[in-house]
Amino acid sequence: MVQRIVVATHNRGKIREIEHILADEMGSAAARFEFITSEDAGLPDPRETGITFQENALLKARDAAQRTGLPAMADDSGLIVDVMGNAPGILSARWSGAHGDDSANNALLLAQLADIPGTRRSARFRCACALVVPHDDGAGNNGGKGSGAAEYTEYVETGEMPGRIALSPRGSNGFGYDPLFVPDDQGCVTDQQREQNNGQPLTSAQMSPEQKDAISHRGAAIRAMAAHFAELA
Ligand code: IMP
Repeated sequence: MVQRIVVATHNRGKIREIEHILADEMGSAAARFEFITSEDAGLPDPRETGITFQENALLKARDAAQRTGLPAMADDSGLIVDVMGNAPGILSARWSGAHGDDSANNALLLAQLADIPGTRRSARFRCACALVVPHDDGAGNNGGKGSGAAEYTEYVETGEMPGRIALSPRGSNGFGYDPLFVPDDQGCVTDQQREQNNGQPLTSAQMSPEQKDAISHRGAAIRAMAAHFAELA
């Protein structure tokens, strides 16, 4: 039997990423799961009112599990810059004011770090991923919508990608702060890519999606979550 799982996002790209990583981690067992977005499930855009990545991921997953009675997954992520006291953090998507304006966010971040030398520009992306699984109450009802006996198992996994903020943007892959973020782990970068970049380390926007997934905060959190999927269905 195929187990449906709702992912609390309106971003279909996140579902493709989850499917890809689970197939890598679980092989053919991953075919037991069908992922749908909260939009497919008719849910409103999830709200993020928590003050940590973990809290936001759990809030979104709990809400989707309660509304649908299905296992629900959510993630929340952002950029942490040490010299900025861990900002922008949970405000990453709307650092410049408007939600999701990547170029304004990047421009503001660069301006705020203008006087900070390369040696003090350490940063990291962090991702929290939550999975909330309603228990069956024995009468065929899942905890949540209408069952009256809501009980859930909750899992949270986190991942980080350490690096530093570049002096100027490079690359056009990825999204968000990728053009400004130079991951410490350059192990997947080819000699040819390095040469083309004049020997400079690559930003995550200069890496292929596969190279970034292999070292990314989100990739690490979802891979850690794969162990709990084996317990479902
Ligand atoms: P979300 O929680 O995945 O929606 O991410 C929140 C915000 O954090 C995004 O809008 C980006 O600004 C930033 N962010 C999170 N992950 C990444 C990444 O992998 N690359 C670049 N920016 C990211």
